[in-house]
Amino acid sequence: MTKRALVTGVTGQDGAYLAQLLLGKGYEVHGLLARRSTDTKWRLRELGIDGDIRFIEGDLADAASLQRALVKSQADEVYNLGAQSFVASSWDQPLLTGTVDALGVTGLLEAIRQFKPDARFYQASTSEMFGLIQAERQDENTPFYPRSPYGVAKLYGHWITVNYRESFGLHASSGILFNHESPLRGIEFVTRKVTDAVARIKLGKQRELRLGNIDAKRDWGFAGDYVEAMWLMLQQAKPADYVVATGVTTTVRDMCKIAFEAVGLNYQDHVVVDPAFFRPAEVDILLGNPAKAERVLGWKPRTSLVELIGMMVEADLRRVGREQ
Ligand code: NDP
Ligand code: GDP
Repeated sequence: MTKRALVTGVTGQDGAYLAQLLLGKGYEVHGLLARRSTDTKWRLRELGIDGDIRFIEGDLADAASLQRALVKSQADEVYNLGAQSFVASSWDQPLLTGTVDALGVTGLLEAIRQFKPDARFYQASTSEMFGLIQAERQDENTPFYPRSPYGVAKLYGHWITVNYRESFGLHASSGILFNHESPLRGIEFVTRKVTDAVARIKLGKQRELRLGNIDAKRDWGFAGDYVEAMWLMLQQAKPADYVVATGVTTTVRDMCKIAFEAVGLNYQDHVVVDPAFFRPAEVDILLGNPAKAERVLGWKPRTSLVELIGMMVEADLRRVGREQ
């Protein structure tokens, strides 16, 4: 029997890699497509899978569209990756962030409860929920302390997932994923902003790179590795919550050093700290402990930060080169 999956956020970084993984496993993949005035399928095209997904128009802010998507797809597995996912924007659009990232999760869980209660559910939770960290290495038992409207909204999404699991017996799991990047990462996030700038500087199209807090530390992994953990969570007999991380943390400064060195440049000659990119409240350091994911799911990260940044710089050199 062909398995059917419904993926919200299918046009995003993780949605694209997850859809590719599921198609490779023989799934029928349905993707919720939010209406936009511009074409949003560039990632799916880069992976060569845009023609293989069955799109259903809908929006996480529109509960009726979620119900329709559930009924239409008859999904066995639902992956909720759709979100206003950029922390900095969440201070500019706090209500939208809450509507989509918090209440949108309830909308989708309600649709499952009413129309497809045997469907398995994955919620894209985030290390941003740890925010002002309460333990040196964060795991599934570390208390949360979100530091942005995004983190607060995602914490609601996390707890409503736990609550629907406990209230209604849904097979609902929450993956607490630490930052993960790839050549398909949005340009507003710091790794991709840096690798794109490195390519432009190397090819003589830009001279400097303006960044905010370069002392912040993140536990960065490769998105292609992380979507495997999402799938594994839904293959378990019992739903649960898992931290997915590499267990290594690096400053933005050292990540810049790696990226510039990949093309033989020194980051100190190009990076300028610009307070315009500072945030109203910062998450200074994140460092995950993925021991449970390794023990229960048999999941391990396979890509080092140097490999990841190298892959991103190479892709951006190709893209910027094509623009010339
Ligand atoms: P992206 O920003 O790349 O993708 C977000 C996706 O959500 C896009 O497909 C976007 O559609 C869609 N979307 C936005 N608003 C709505 C809406 N109102 N209704 C339906 N869909 C919507 O994020 P990632 O792929 O990086 O992340 C996937 C998920 O994982 C997100 O929920 C994110 O918050 C979470 N997460 C990500 C981490 C990371 O490091 N990448 C870490 C931990 C959690 P469109 O293309 O049309 O804008
Ligand atoms: P986040 O962890 O989800 O907020 O992912 P980002 O990639 O947006 O940011 C990671 C860290 O890099 C945060 O601590 C930011 O404050 C820091 N940072 C420093 N300069 C920049 C910048 O110019 N853009 C972004 N996006 N982040 C920056």
